[in-house]
Amino acid sequence: MSLIVQKFGGSSVRDAERIQNVARIIAETYVKGNDVIVVLSAQGDTTDDLIEKAKEINPSASKRELDMLLSTGEQISVSLCAMALEAMGLPCVSLTAWQAGIQSTAVHTDARIKRIDSERIQAELDQHRIVIVTGFQGVDRSGDVTTLGRGGSDTSAVALAAAFRADLCQIYTDVDGVYTTDPRLVPTARKLEEITYDEMLELASQGAQVLHNRSVELAKKFRVNLEVLSSLERKPGT
Ligand code: ASP
Ligand code: MG
Repeated sequence: MSLIVQKFGGSSVRDAERIQNVARIIAETYVKGNDVIVVLSAQGDTTDDLIEKAKEINPSASKRELDMLLSTGEQISVSLCAMALEAMGLPCVSLTAWQAGIQSTAVHTDARIKRIDSERIQAELDQHRIVIVTGFQGVDRSGDVTTLGRGGSDTSAVALAAAFRADLCQIYTDVDGVYTTDPRLVPTARKLEEITYDEMLELASQGAQVLHNRSVELAKKFRVNLEVLSSLERKPGT
């Protein structure tokens, strides 16, 4: 039995159909006897839409209030995914960062994870529940919700994988792995079977937007086994 962290990005949870698809991937992993921690992003363009909503009301809204708003996107995803798993008869629980003990710095809209209190998640895993955690969120020392910067759910996933010493951290997205260049723009782009942490950081510094940079740094520091793969096609990633 292994502990696997599975993170799904916004496009992978875009609508009800995609959430059902994600629930099937999670279910397959769980019924094989693995412990599973799931991390989700907000659905589709939700985060952008929320930023627009804020601008309509107050273009210079405080970052604290922005975080209060932006963090709701991920909360929608985790509850819907839990409902999909419930409908399949699988034991699961969705948790916000506060419930999951993800403590961060107080830098609103660009917070960093400081530590994770493992107690609650561990208790849920001990009950053989699939644990579904909001990505992108933290809680600062005053108990306020923070967000980790755009694309920050990858970092939530890697931080959880490090804290729980997961055997594998899978980052599901809409491309099937890491390519030499962007396959959506360059047809001759070649998929890599493996890439080192440093090469991945190098790619990111050249503008590749596969993974949140901080997530790769964290993966390197804690030797997290990372896999980038597609939620839409069942095949090995990078
Ligand atoms: N929902 C957030 C964003 O769009 C975080 C993430 O997707 O990782 O930036
Ligand atoms: Mg996103």
